[in-house]
Order: sequence, then structure tokens, then C-alpha cells
Amino acid sequence: ETDTEDFVIDDEIIKTIFKIRSEFSHKGTYGKVNIIAGSYGKMGAAVLSTRSALKAGAGLTFTLAPKCGYEILQTSDPEAMFIEGGKDYIESFDVDETAVCGIGPGIGTHEKTAASLLMFLKSYSKPLILDADALNIIAQDPANLNLIPEKSIITPHPKEFERLFGKTKNSFERTELARNKSRELQIYIVLKDHHTQIITPEGAVFYNITGNSGLAKGGSGDILTGIITSFLAQQYTEQEAAILGVWFHGKAAEFAAERHSKESMLPSDVINEFGTVFSELN
Ligand code: AMP
Ligand code: MG
Repeated sequence: ETDTEDFVIDDEIIKTIFKIRSEFSHKGTYGKVNIIAGSYGKMGAAVLSTRSALKAGAGLTFTLAPKCGYEILQTSDPEAMFIEGGKDYIESFDVDETAVCGIGPGIGTHEKTAASLLMFLKSYSKPLILDADALNIIAQDPANLNLIPEKSIITPHPKEFERLFGKTKNSFERTELARNKSRELQIYIVLKDHHTQIITPEGAVFYNITGNSGLAKGGSGDILTGIITSFLAQQYTEQEAAILGVWFHGKAAEFAAERHSKESMLPSDVINEFGTVFSELN
């Protein structure tokens, strides 16, 4: 089945994807998230991706992070549970098999983190979300690309995309390269930019038009990872989670800009607008 059509993500597409939360439900209905993030000096990335997964509606959220982040995480995100994965950086991936993993924000590229991530991927076959330094680690050897489980979602910004797949002359070439790689590896590529594109394993491209330059700040990508992981745990398909997640992230940014301005809005402010976006959807 091949679908090379291109789509703009509009309200119609979002309406068909979004599911209203059932009154007859419990936390098990909304899945388990396992955010794998953080290292010494970069615990903010773990806090932001964790809080984002929580505020995007997941039933239960775990964060696997190094011990140096224990008090930070338990204090700033008390709703999440902490799993220790090392001392100052992650060196073990002891994950609950039933949780959806979102891996990468702030993990750094220490050789032990790299070795443990690659070992984990060798024995893991469920779709997961890979971002940031998880992608930079994979990019160290092109053979690592084959370790990404099919139907996984990767969320590179243009620099990370280039490290993974090589240089392109312009954004048109980049989209075509992403189309080829999505097909070849059978993964979803979320090509983050001013207008983010979601490329499916079938070769379709979904263009997002929500969002603004207030997102051009450290931490914005970390919260996108939290959102997509949370939606995947809540029984949206990979394609739905990626499309709804990117749209939702941009929409929350629009509300944050109205309240705080594009200059002053912070990724934390974007998280605090998730409720406004859900209220509009419901
Ligand atoms: P990262 O570089 O990993 O922090 O990711 C940045 C996030 O912010 C991505 O989701 C981008 O799509 C978004 N973003 C960054 N700059 C802009 C911009 N000028 N307009 C819209 N979205 C942006
Ligand atoms: Mg990033």
C-alpha cells in the first residue's frame, strides 16, 4: 500500500483523530508512559518531558533518570514515579514492558549511556519515541538505524536529521530523503521546523501549521516528546499520536503567546496551556 499524498493538518483531520475521555474509565485506560530522560545539568529536559506527558493525559507516568535527578523530579513532578537508571547519567534501561517509552531529552551522549541505549534497542521491538540525544547516539553509526523498532516515531530537528541521514541542499530535498527513509525503516519521521512535517512509512506527508517562533527556545522539543509519548500510551495509533501531538504542541504555543508574548513564553507556559487546547477540542 503506497500513499504519497500530502496533507495539511486541519481542524477536520484533528476532529476525526481526537477521542473524548470516557467517564467509564480508570487510569489503566489511559496507558503507561515511561519517559527516559535527563543527565547531570540537564534534568530540566526530564522535568519538562515528564510534566508534558502528565498534562497530556496519560494514566500513569514513570521517569527513568539518573539518581542526581531524584529529588528534582519528585519535587517538580510529584505525579510521576521515579526509576533510577544511573548516577549522573543513564546507564541502564530497566523499563516496564507495558509502558510506552519516550527516550532522549537531555540524556547526553556519554559512552555508557550510548552503549546501554543501543543494547536496549537490540532487545526491544515495540514502537517507541526517540528524540534529541537518543538520535545523536543512533547517528554515531548508520548501522544503528536498523535497531529502531518498526512504527517508532523519531522527532529530529534539522541538525539531528542531518546527523542521522546526511546533508540535503534544501527543505524539499530533505522531505524527499525523509520519505525514502521512513519507507526503508518503516518508521514515522517528525521533521521539526517552523512548519513541522510528519512523514509516514507509506510515504504520506502531513504538514503542520500551528505554532510560532515563541517555540524557538530550549525545551520546546522536550515537551513535544512528552505529548506524543502520552498520546501513544492513550491508545492513539502511531500516526494519530504524531499528527495530533505536533498540532497540539503548536496550538498550546499559540495560547501561550497570547498570554505571555512570543518573546517571554517558556516551554513551561506552553505546558500550562494544554488544558485550554483540550477544552477547545472537547
Ligand atoms: P527542539 O529544537 O528539539 O527544541 O524542538 C523545537 C520545537 O519547537 C519543534 O517542535 C519545532 O517545530 C518548534 N519550533 C521551533 N522554532 C519554531 C518556529 N519558528 N515556528 C514554529 N515552531 C517552531
Ligand atoms: Mg530537542
